[in-house]
Amino acid sequence: MKEETKLIQNILSDPLTGAISTPIYQTSTYVQESPGVHKGFDYTRTNNPTRKILEKLITDLEKGYASLAFSSGLASVDAVLKLLEFGDEIVAVDDIYGGTFRLLNLYKKLGIHTHFVDTTYAENVISILTPKIKMVWLESPTNPTLKISDIKYISENAKKVNPNILIVVDNTFATPALQNPLSLEADIVIHSATKYLAGHSDVLAGLITVKNADLFEQLKYIQNATGGILSPIDCWLTIRGCQTLYLRIKKQSDNAFKIATFLSEDKKNTCIDKVYYPGLSKHKNHIIAVKQQLYFGGIVSFSLKDDTIEAAKKVVTSTKLFKLAESLGGTKSLICHPATMTHKSTPLEVRRNAGIQDSLIRLSFGIENEEDLMEDIDQALKH
Ligand code: PLP
Repeated sequence: MKEETKLIQNILSDPLTGAISTPIYQTSTYVQESPGVHKGFDYTRTNNPTRKILEKLITDLEKGYASLAFSSGLASVDAVLKLLEFGDEIVAVDDIYGGTFRLLNLYKKLGIHTHFVDTTYAENVISILTPKIKMVWLESPTNPTLKISDIKYISENAKKVNPNILIVVDNTFATPALQNPLSLEADIVIHSATKYLAGHSDVLAGLITVKNADLFEQLKYIQNATGGILSPIDCWLTIRGCQTLYLRIKKQSDNAFKIATFLSEDKKNTCIDKVYYPGLSKHKNHIIAVKQQLYFGGIVSFSLKDDTIEAAKKVVTSTKLFKLAESLGGTKSLICHPATMTHKSTPLEVRRNAGIQDSLIRLSFGIENEEDLMEDIDQALKH
């Protein structure tokens, strides 16, 4: 079976009733026959049948060993960081999602230090490795400058230096429809399923998929100990959203590709400075993107010649179809100004060093008609 067929067919009908839609097991506890004798479920923090179906779904999509569902993307990031101990160190991509950056700052207080490097140059990662560095944290493409890192090359070479190092990939932007980090030698994949997987801007969810039983046991223990699980209704929304993943991401990538091309070629839009989209041949990591991803994804960023917050604000408040909002990956197109929104907690110098200019604007493409979207952006740029 092809991936799209597997995704749909692997969600089985309910064996108890034949219900074709997954039942929502909205229960906190389960009746036991005698103490410790039950049907595999004792308390919903530990296990829940609806959650189990979602976890199996993402395991299949990411071609992993097993998965865990959390109450948000950041809750899943937090669980992975809890694999580390006081004194351990991390190497992370420099324009990491602002919320992950904030969390890594909290972990600094707990004795876990992060080195931020431009991971698009694999040597920046490999050359910095020491026995203290226990984890490499990649996002590819990154949020919001869409840098692409060579996951396989970094994983293979980091493991030559330290065979026990954990390679973690935040696959939120690409989704398993475009790339499978575990097949590229990574150990752990995380998702803000809030974005493309759930796909309709109606739920917060996080997912972790791991490549082996040992990592699963450790993370399962952390999840059960800390309790940040996804509720049954939110599991159901995520299962429902995931079913159209392939259809949505293809259309979103198509919209993004056409408008990135328009923005980078249109000489009338002289206010645009740079366009960031891995599908453009002039994108600095285009060749790795072609090798690593099926399509180039639904996000495009661009900066303005007038590199000021004011100029960017004028554009983001002038679109009619693109709604000004945080988040991404839904069916409705969104526009966002990272410097004052998603990355406002990133210190100015760190933000600028990571290439997130004051005027940078991020577009998240929905599934609307591309000509309507193009017209909308065009008129906003002329304001
Ligand atoms: N990772 C990336 C790449 C993100 O963009 C986000 C949110 O924007 C997160 C993680 C955090 O996910 P959540 O908002 O679901 O906690």
